[in-house]
Amino acid sequence: MKIKFFGGAGGVTGSKTLLKIGKEKYLVDYGLFQGASENRSRNWDQFYEASEVSAVFLTHAHIDHSGLLPRLWRDGFRGDIYCTRETYKLCRILLEDSAKIHEEDAAYANKKKYSRHKPALPLYTRDEAVEILKNFKTVEFENEIEISPNIKITFFWAGHILGSSFIRVAYKDEKSEDKVIVFSGDVGHKRNILLRPPAPLCKLDYLVLESTYGAKLHPRIPAKEVLGIYLNTILKRSGVAIIPSFSVGRTQDVLYLIKELMDENQIPSAPVVLDSPLSKKANQIFRECFGELCVKSEVLEKGSIYPETLREVQTVNESKDVASATGPMIIVSASGMIDGGRVVHHVKEKISDEKNGIILVGYQPEGTKGRLLLDGIETLRVHKEEYPVKASIFSVNSLSAHGDYLDIIDWLKESKIDPKFVILNHGEEKGSKHLKTLLESQMDYKTTVAGFGEEFDLDHIY
Ligand SMILES: [Zn+2]
Repeated sequence: MKIKFFGGAGGVTGSKTLLKIGKEKYLVDYGLFQGASENRSRNWDQFYEASEVSAVFLTHAHIDHSGLLPRLWRDGFRGDIYCTRETYKLCRILLEDSAKIHEEDAAYANKKKYSRHKPALPLYTRDEAVEILKNFKTVEFENEIEISPNIKITFFWAGHILGSSFIRVAYKDEKSEDKVIVFSGDVGHKRNILLRPPAPLCKLDYLVLESTYGAKLHPRIPAKEVLGIYLNTILKRSGVAIIPSFSVGRTQDVLYLIKELMDENQIPSAPVVLDSPLSKKANQIFRECFGELCVKSEVLEKGSIYPETLREVQTVNESKDVASATGPMIIVSASGMIDGGRVVHHVKEKISDEKNGIILVGYQPEGTKGRLLLDGIETLRVHKEEYPVKASIFSVNSLSAHGDYLDIIDWLKESKIDPKFVILNHGEEKGSKHLKTLLESQMDYKTTVAGFGEEFDLDHIY
């Protein structure tokens, strides 16, 4: 078995790992590179013959793990993509949405004539997204599937987002000995608002482990308490609370926390408006998949995760009505970093009134409007106009869907595994190195950090 890292190595986007067993080739994940333009330009590279790859094993639907699959189809891949039913449903909305953005970006570049390529082409199209989705094959959790006489795969619950999995690959090595390698994908933790903690790891020889929060700890203060304080502050002065939120996962967490706070009379009852077509679709998938496989039992007992006063807005006209309405009111809208989507209009309308407030609930990268607000900017430039920042700017930063390094170490300890070798991926250099040090000192694991383009021959070296 040889494995080679073509993404999610030395960074947290573009996750893709090639597996070679004899002449057979497989991929684990096929994610989009995001962030800096030199990183994004890698989305156009073809690292190998896509037509030679037999199948893709997809850990979860996040676009940094699935978002380049339509491109793989364009490059000639025609094999199956194995994933859970929930991951397939989420990919249906996320890949189509991603293709739409790429098409719109290309059209805009052509209109403004700023592309080096004439004409500018989308990275992939909606038609290509539709084509690749036909190749998806859904699997049950913990149900072993034979892919070829050499290789069997099993998906286990990873506790990160709906449908997320770590994948066990059982295979015969060059000496025909049985071996197991596990790909963690992104791993959740026990403090997730809605989802169960990850299943314990199974017996394994090799582990490819994510290290996103390899050097950071999340605050242990319950998000509900913090959100409650901020919402009370804004609603009691009849203001509008705007919560910019990512559509899949974070939006459902936030809506559930609002429901609990209102049901327990910890905040005043007020209209809650969800204004994001993608979040509305994600809510629908959450309703369809609301079951014991992924969701915590105490959440299932409530019967619903949505506040009674919730209204899901669809059309642009409805959205405009919401933007001109006054408080007390809560608006949840995408994107989570205020770098696009309908939330930008709501922020523009409400930011210059001190009654209102903006509650950021996720990581805000450099260069985004969310980050500027967090850093205390006095005027915000939106659509070429300056708006004085008078509204309160709040932040809830304990809602990550990734486990931090203490969560990861707990998970490994509880799983009682004894790996021959651990390869860390999906992390910035600092995080991966820090986690490597901890795994070597605390767990006695032989550990390395994968580099971009690095190949490991597991049959010969370890
Ligand atoms: Zn993820």
